[in-house]
Amino acid sequence: MINRQMTQLGENSSVIRELFEFGKQRKAVVGEDKVFDFSIGNPNVPCPQAITDTMVKLITESDAAALHGYTSAVGDNGTRQAIASYMNEKYGIGVDFTDIYMTVGAAASLTITLRALTNPGEEVIVFTPYFPEYKVFIENAGAVCVEVPARKGDFQIDFEALEAAFSEKTAAIIVNSPNNPTGAVLTAETLQSLADYLKEKEAKYGKEIYLISDEPYRELVYDGTELKLPVQYYDNTIICYSYSKSLSLPGERIGYIMVSPRAASRKKVFATICGAGRSLGFVCAPALMQFVVGQNQGVTSDISVYAENRAIIYNALTEYGFEAVRPDGAFYLFVKSPSGDGNEMSERAKKQELLLVPSDSFGMEGYVRISYCVSKKQIEDSLPAFKALAESYGL
Ligand code: PLP
Repeated sequence: MINRQMTQLGENSSVIRELFEFGKQRKAVVGEDKVFDFSIGNPNVPCPQAITDTMVKLITESDAAALHGYTSAVGDNGTRQAIASYMNEKYGIGVDFTDIYMTVGAAASLTITLRALTNPGEEVIVFTPYFPEYKVFIENAGAVCVEVPARKGDFQIDFEALEAAFSEKTAAIIVNSPNNPTGAVLTAETLQSLADYLKEKEAKYGKEIYLISDEPYRELVYDGTELKLPVQYYDNTIICYSYSKSLSLPGERIGYIMVSPRAASRKKVFATICGAGRSLGFVCAPALMQFVVGQNQGVTSDISVYAENRAIIYNALTEYGFEAVRPDGAFYLFVKSPSGDGNEMSERAKKQELLLVPSDSFGMEGYVRISYCVSKKQIEDSLPAFKALAESYGL
């Protein structure tokens, strides 16, 4: 008998992917530029020239056998050292390269970390709305996904709601700032309160409770928003990072896990991450990509493109009468459905050839998510369709 749970996961692909596929089919019928696909977070900005140059240099000037050979399971030491130096310089974390485990992107970083930090039946708290794959990864580890609504209005943490959900079975909490799907950035005040809260719970339950910080959008912040990292506030933090968004390399699959150097069981946690990586087959992330990112710490794609898109779409939609959360980071806009039903809005938007993701895929009703990591032209061309959508609601 094959695995029923996996069959179910495979047969029910994500709503986002379904919309993306639907968009491709519609484009074939009505034309590429007549369909406005805002469904997926696939960066439209090309990777920086420095990345292409490094790849070319490595491929043309290195010994091919060494370049494409296995690195150690945890990753190349030079790359890990470059990441540690950069993180220490930029955020003052005091991390050592031996705290870093290279992975094939944030999905793998999370899968490994969740497998490492939980035992079957333990609970992991996520704040709604959240990246839907968290639940898949948590359940794959045999743990239970506990959903806690974020604070209404600004999507910071609602500590009363958190308290209602916290239990002796809570092993970890996942935070994602800047956030997919809201664009919200957790403030210094929220992070300090969360750190205080978790320390109190650690004392109460006499165990370590982990904060998993999923940070693929770390570099994408706007209007001078100051991004603080959870690891700067709470010692038992594990960072799950990816270069998919910051360097526009989602198809190349490269990222890392970083254990806080102040984690109480730092070495043991790292060894457990190595064990989880091994058991899941996530060893030796793509070597070429490791060298490329190692040589380009601090480099990002042209983020000004997203800042411009954000301004155009946020200003236009609010002018048409939609209610939206002004995003401080990432490249998503979370828009309230005028009917109160996100699915209804997503279906209605399809009639205008607008592909918007209903928010219940993120564990919250009543909104749609717009991915604005698309061309400026797509945003500008889509505005009449958004206006027509607003008018269809009588806004
Ligand atoms: N976490 C969040 C919040 C995301 O939005 C994504 C991708 O969109 C991921 C993790 C997975 O990223 P990766 O492509 O690095 O696996």
